[in-house]
Amino acid sequence: MDFLKPRYTPMSRRRRIYEGKAKVLYEGPEPGTLIQHFKDDATAFNAKKHQVIEGKGVLNNRISEYVFQHLNDIGVPTHFIRRLNMREQLIREVEIIPLEVVVRNVAAGSLSQRLGIEEGTQLPRSIIEFYYKNDALGDPMVSEEHVTAFGWATPQEIDDIMALAVRVNDFLSGLFLGVGIRLVDFKMECGRLWENDMMRIVVADEISPDSCRLWDIKSSEKLDKDRFRRDLGGLLEAYTEVAKRLGILSEGERPQGGGPVPVIDTGPMTVEEFYAFTDTRPDEEKWELIEGEPVLNAAPSDMHQWIVKNVVLALGIRERELNAPWAVLPGLGVRVSDKDRPEAARPQ
Ligand code: ADP
Ligand code: MG
Repeated sequence: MDFLKPRYTPMSRRRRIYEGKAKVLYEGPEPGTLIQHFKDDATAFNAKKHQVIEGKGVLNNRISEYVFQHLNDIGVPTHFIRRLNMREQLIREVEIIPLEVVVRNVAAGSLSQRLGIEEGTQLPRSIIEFYYKNDALGDPMVSEEHVTAFGWATPQEIDDIMALAVRVNDFLSGLFLGVGIRLVDFKMECGRLWENDMMRIVVADEISPDSCRLWDIKSSEKLDKDRFRRDLGGLLEAYTEVAKRLGILSEGERPQGGGPVPVIDTGPMTVEEFYAFTDTRPDEEKWELIEGEPVLNAAPSDMHQWIVKNVVLALGIRERELNAPWAVLPGLGVRVSDKDRPEAARPQ
């Protein structure tokens, strides 16, 4: 099976909280957590332009994981907990502040257009901009005055957001410079995270070539979503190049690739590997293996458990009436193939 092919959405009992343009959010395994699923959809110009680019979600999941894990490691708070599988990561649920925070180092895109500054011009200093996150309005640019007057964030929160934006910009600029890439600009989202009675602002959403402008230092070639916006083609190759330079991909053979090419260092899991993996996870986490991909389920809802009870009761009655050679037992994993072990009732 080609793991860069678009995946079905895992059918399981977890609840879909939100479906956006590039990602889906599912209920997480514990309260206060969510599962962020990266789709292959690429959109631009407020979704007027749309295309499915097979494998983009897998790459963005990996690249965003890499960035957020490193931000956590240097003490920049983020929503990221850990990656779960090829397309999904476990995150903390936050109250998203409805702003797209853009940090620019080099003139490009709307800044160049609006102010007539040639693309590629180094800016005198990094510039932070706010856009109101509202698809219906086309994410209009707003000032701090709008942000505070309309209550999207307090002056203190704006200070926190700007301090985070500067730290993320410094980290990303150095990270990419080290691998021969110029960080032209990027967008980030922030959210409020409560811990007991304390609230702090953390970096949320994703940081990937979908949300950054990344230019190769030598050739100035674009390695980001502008390849899609400007119909340059080669988006997947560009994102793969970014991942490869960051050391996320390992050298390997892809059968149809004609020679060694960088591939994502994760294949389908077998049921044996799956059991070895779930042995390392806490008992309260419920995992299923679907098409070679481990899928973490949300805790069952009351409604789910009522349905289980009713089904088991009804089938149990039939079982006794018939003195059946089978039995009905809920909550057992069933090995359906060497790459599938869903949870289901199993005839005994
Ligand atoms: P959109 O089309 O709205 O940009 P995406 O496809 O980017 O949506 O899906 C991600 C959505 O989830 C975004 O609306 C983003 O603001 C929101 N989000 C990101 N991280 C979190 C989080 N930790 N908690 C709650 N919501 C989040
Ligand atoms: Mg988004």
